[in-house]
Amino acid sequence: MGMNEVCSWLKEHDRFAVMGHVSPDGDSYGSTLAMCMALRNAGKQAFVLADPVPHLYAFLPGQDMICRLENCPFEPEAVIHLDIASPDRAAYALAKPLPSLLIDHHQTNAGFDDVMLIDASASSAGEILMRLFEHAGAAIDRDMAACLFTSISTDTGSFQFSNTTAETMRYIGVLIDTGLDISRLSTLIFRRRTLARTRLTGEVLTDMFVSEDGKITVGSISLSMMEKYGAVHADTETIVNYLVEVEGVCMAALLEEGEDSVKVSLRSNEGYNAAEVAVSFGGGGHMLAAGATLHDTTLASAEEMVKKALRKAVG
Ligand code: 5GP
Ligand code: MN
Repeated sequence: MGMNEVCSWLKEHDRFAVMGHVSPDGDSYGSTLAMCMALRNAGKQAFVLADPVPHLYAFLPGQDMICRLENCPFEPEAVIHLDIASPDRAAYALAKPLPSLLIDHHQTNAGFDDVMLIDASASSAGEILMRLFEHAGAAIDRDMAACLFTSISTDTGSFQFSNTTAETMRYIGVLIDTGLDISRLSTLIFRRRTLARTRLTGEVLTDMFVSEDGKITVGSISLSMMEKYGAVHADTETIVNYLVEVEGVCMAALLEEGEDSVKVSLRSNEGYNAAEVAVSFGGGGHMLAAGATLHDTTLASAEEMVKKALRKAVG
């Protein structure tokens, strides 16, 4: 579906709920906040359904627009899903179905809303939003720019992943033109971490599994490790990158124990498809970064399953 259809769908409605995915990351928070700001700038009512922003993204503007399902400021009549690969990944399930719009960039997305804008060539949901805003002639203010920069810079690994295109960088230029201090934001996102996150990273890397041929690495985070360091989920987000950056590694996994599930983050280097492995576990994602959530399993048995799957994928 095209931009025109999305624009007319947006014009047709007035009271929006905007949401991202469970275990929200920079793209999820950044794109939902930017969308909500754009809707409000256009005279619409909108809020973001999400958990409160974690410490890592504490600098994000517009956090007062965020609420949980139980304390929404009004009854929405339409819902916008951003950065959500499949319906089970939505941050919230609404009590009754509403007219819906999906904007996403996951190659595994089969589509699940009334109106959809899915483009796997876009670096991030934030980048698709910038195209939409450009198409609609919607102005981007500095607060929106901070959110969109967070979206795009986190999903491109600070513009180092292969999903960074000339178009991505052209949009970053647009954000800089709003007066945004990208050096300050990049420092906060990529070059500052809590002591808890630093120490947790150290323990995961010290104890990681490395296959005999050195092509596979697997790290694990138990609930007790999280407790030991006083860490939260956002503290675990980038640890998997260290695992896949070990010389000679083709594919890496980070397992994070939850209360009743195990979250698997998969990363691969060029030539290996992490999304395929994720899909085999009922998850999804992109070629080089994918994930899945395993239920009815322990951390130890999940480790074994994941090691086997990686062995098969890497050969
Ligand atoms: P991360 O490892 O950073 O959580 O996720 C990497 C990519 O895989 C993201 O694009 C994310 O949307 C996708 N992903 C992570 N976990 C899941 C999951 O449980 N199910 C699906 N379908 N995709 C996931
Ligand atoms: Mn994304």
